Amino acid sequence: MLCVTIQVHRHILSSQCYIRYEDDFNTVDSLRVSCMPSKLSLSLLRGIEIIREVHITAPTNFFIPSSLSTDQIVTVDSGPTLLCPVSQTSSNHWTADLCFRLQVSNLEKLFRSNIEIPVDVKNFFRERFQKHKRWDLLCGSCGYTLSEKSVSFESLKEYSESELSEGWFCHRTISNPVPQLSSQVLYMDDVSFYLDHHVFKSQDHPQEPFVNSNLMNSMKCPDCGILLSVEKTHLSLRRFFFDKLMVTNSSVNEDPAKYVHEIAILSFWSLVEKSLASSIICKLFLYNKEKDLCLLLWIPTKKIGQFQLTGSAEDFPLETCLEMAEVYKVLYFVGDSSSDNVLSWRHDFTVDYYCVSNTLIKTVVEILRASSKHSPQAATSDGFLHGCLLPCNGANKCIIF
Ligand SMILES: [Zn+2]
Repeated sequence: MLCVTIQVHRHILSSQCYIRYEDDFNTVDSLRVSCMPSKLSLSLLRGIEIIREVHITAPTNFFIPSSLSTDQIVTVDSGPTLLCPVSQTSSNHWTADLCFRLQVSNLEKLFRSNIEIPVDVKNFFRERFQKHKRWDLLCGSCGYTLSEKSVSFESLKEYSESELSEGWFCHRTISNPVPQLSSQVLYMDDVSFYLDHHVFKSQDHPQEPFVNSNLMNSMKCPDCGILLSVEKTHLSLRRFFFDKLMVTNSSVNEDPAKYVHEIAILSFWSLVEKSLASSIICKLFLYNKEKDLCLLLWIPTKKIGQFQLTGSAEDFPLETCLEMAEVYKVLYFVGDSSSDNVLSWRHDFTVDYYCVSNTLIKTVVEILRASSKHSPQAATSDGFLHGCLLPCNGANKCIIF
C-alpha cells in the first residue's frame, strides 16, 4: 500500500507531505523522494534497484526543490532528495513513513472549482416537503413504519433554538416557547424534528393509536428496539433527531441506511457553517446524552489544499497530476463528559454547544478517522487528533436525492 498526502497552507505556500508505504513481503527496503521544479518523484528501492517509480506532476516551477526538508532522524537528506528506510513493524509487516516540508510558488491553478452552495438541513427539508404532500414516518434504523397513518403538514416552522441548550452554560438564553402549537406544522431545529405523539402507533399495542396515558419518557422502535426519542417538550411534542426518524413516502424509494448517513452529514455541516459564519474560530461541542458521548471539534475558518492518492504499490499510477481539494484540517477529541478536555470546553464561552444524535457523532468520527488513516501523526499532548473534513458543498456533494 502506498499513500501520498500533500497538504498546502495557502497563505504561507508551505506544504506538509506524508508518504506511507506498507507491505507484507519486504520487497522494498527504502523510499526515495526527489524534488524537481515541476515534479515530485517517488522511488521504491531494493538496494539500488528501482522496484517502482511514480511521478506527481505540477505546473512549471511549482515546487521549490531547495526548500525540501525533514525533521526525521532516520531519513537521509541530501539536497532535493530524501531517503527513508523501510522497517519491520511486526513479523510479516514492513512500513515506512516519510514526512517532509516543501515550499511551493503559487497555488491558484491547482484547486478544483467547487460551487459553494450554503448547506442548510432545514432548507433541504423545506424543498423536500414542497414536492410531496403525504408522509410516512419510518424507523431510521430498520425502516419499520411508526406512523399510525400517512401524515401531511401545511408548513414547516423553526422550533426555538434555545431548546438545544441543556443548561450546561450559565449564558443560556431564555427559551421562547412555540406560541401556538399546530398539528399541521412540522417543527424543527438544526438537528431534530418535533412531532406530536398522536401521529405514532402505540408502542404497547401497535394497532392502537398513541394516547397520552401511555406516553412514556423514551420511545423505542417496536421492531428493532432502537431508541428513537427520549425527550418530550412541555408542549407534548416529542423530539426526534433527523437521523432517527425517516420521513418519507411511497413515491420516494430510499434506503434507510443511506438516508440516515446523508442526513447526519447534512445536519453536521449545517452546524459547522452556522458556527463558522458567526465566529472567528469554530469550536464545536457535540454531545449525545443517551450514550454520554462528546465530540469536540476545532475547525479553522481557512481551508487548506490537499492532494491524496492511495493504492497498492503495484497499481499506483506512474504519473498523476497534482490537483488540490479544499479541506478543513481540524483537531478533534472524542470522550465522555468526565474527560478533562470536555470539562474544560464546558466552561469555554467561545464553544458552540449542540445536543446531537449518537449517529451524527459516529458518522463524523468515522470520516475523521478515515481521513487520517494513512497520515503518520501523533495525538497532541492533550489527546486531540488531527483529521480532515471535505466540505459538504465541495467536490463530493453529499446529498443526492
Ligand atoms: Zn427500527
